[in-house]
Amino acid sequence: MTALPKNFEADGLRHETLRIAGERVDNPRRIDVHYPWDNRVIGSVPKATEADVARAFEVAAAFRSPLSRHERGAILQRTARILVERTAEVSDLITLESGLSKKDSVYEVGRAHDVFMLAGQAALNDDGQIFSCDISPHGKKRRIYTQRDPLRAISAITPFNHPLNQVAHKIAPSIATNNKMVLKPSEKTPLTAFLLADILYEAGLPPAMFQVVTGDPREIGLALIKCPEIDLVTFTGGVGVGKWIADNLGYRRCVLELGGNDPLIVMEDADLEEATTLAAAGSYKNSGQRCTAVKRMLVHESLADAFAARLVEKTKALKYGDPMDPATDMGTVIDEESATRIEGRVTDAIARGARLLHGHERRGALYAPTVVDHVPVDAPLVMEETFGPVSPILRFRDIDEAIRISNGTAYGLSSGIVTNRLDYITRFVQELNVGTVNVREVPGYRIESSPFGGIKDSGLGYKEGVLEAMKAFTNVKTYSLPWG
Ligand code: NAD
Repeated sequence: MTALPKNFEADGLRHETLRIAGERVDNPRRIDVHYPWDNRVIGSVPKATEADVARAFEVAAAFRSPLSRHERGAILQRTARILVERTAEVSDLITLESGLSKKDSVYEVGRAHDVFMLAGQAALNDDGQIFSCDISPHGKKRRIYTQRDPLRAISAITPFNHPLNQVAHKIAPSIATNNKMVLKPSEKTPLTAFLLADILYEAGLPPAMFQVVTGDPREIGLALIKCPEIDLVTFTGGVGVGKWIADNLGYRRCVLELGGNDPLIVMEDADLEEATTLAAAGSYKNSGQRCTAVKRMLVHESLADAFAARLVEKTKALKYGDPMDPATDMGTVIDEESATRIEGRVTDAIARGARLLHGHERRGALYAPTVVDHVPVDAPLVMEETFGPVSPILRFRDIDEAIRISNGTAYGLSSGIVTNRLDYITRFVQELNVGTVNVREVPGYRIESSPFGGIKDSGLGYKEGVLEAMKAFTNVKTYSLPWG
């Protein structure tokens, strides 16, 4: 049996409580959390009631943060340091509740460190603007200044695929801007969010600035978006839930970071070694469960055979299986239901004429890294978002067809293109309907402070990333003074 992190309770299980107003609030109605590798229960979280959620937002809105920029910066930097010091413990918990390999979960802790470190720096910068008013014939001797004010309360809802980093991207910019946030993490991976909350309190954060509730979204979903104190809902997750939130939100702002169906487009001049390395990394990292995972490989027909052969080699070299084994590259997907759905999509693509080159084996929530070639453009495997370790290869004749296929789904998150030709690069940057074009990189490449987010069904175009989120989480107030 895998060793459990040291802060698990005596029975080996981690039974959590809600974090509301600095108190640990319990509820006998609970949701079990499973280790996807063997499906055993590793802990449980309470099902909050609508009244619990309402109270959390009241507490948030009533709290006036006394924290200076210096103090917020220090809390964020301290959090970054604690995360790194406790990497083993935090990554164990991520792996246990998600089935992600230790390689992936350790990497995720490093990313979360960057989020808090960069937010800590950003908290120190006053980005107010100054406008002189004597700039036209009817001007006046005045100046207009801007400042960014925090909101009353922010509601944050996060998905399962990065149990720590998705939460970090919500709470770090919230603290940097002196906001108060109530988080509902995914009920599939809620334990890491509670651990992060405790680390933040240990780092000095007033508990009213970050409260955590868990529960059944069918019971508390409306409260999470409609409590009167909520000025903004920031949601990361699937398209269906995101659009339901947009439909039911009422008169308040929302930032939606939804699903993706990102292509890696390989042109005829591409270096095959580079292209297949990017393809494998983009497809299998985090068990293929990233919004920006490579979900379609669009390869020029002149090198598609050689590309497929080399990708199969790289896929075979990947070690997948026991998530806790430090040598494992890829662990499970989130649960058996998800693995079965992925398997079904591949089976369906094969029935439509695709050729299986490698993988397509499943045991519980473990689905083998899989390569399928000659995938028809309209197969659900590549028209829908397939959230798992599948490499579907589609062939194209020229750049017009590549752009047409790439733009031919409902999604518009990110993309990677492999070419050195500037004429191709400029066309892709201009014509791909996506939020990001990465040249000779995976679609998921970013730094934690750069703007990030999609268009079409992938989002409304409002970006995340530490700096953009800090803008979204604030109201600009202008004030003007007589001058000179
Ligand atoms: P999901 O949409 O099923 O759930 C996301 C969150 O929404 C969970 O916390 C869930 O409990 C909550 N939720 C569900 N119904 C709700 C309701 N009615 N009201 C309020 N909250 C509700 O997504 P998931 O399966 O956890 O995550 C995978 C999806 O997230 C994929 O589509 C992936 O592409 C997407 N994602 C997007 C980004 C991005 O930045 N664009 C990043 C990561 C993941």
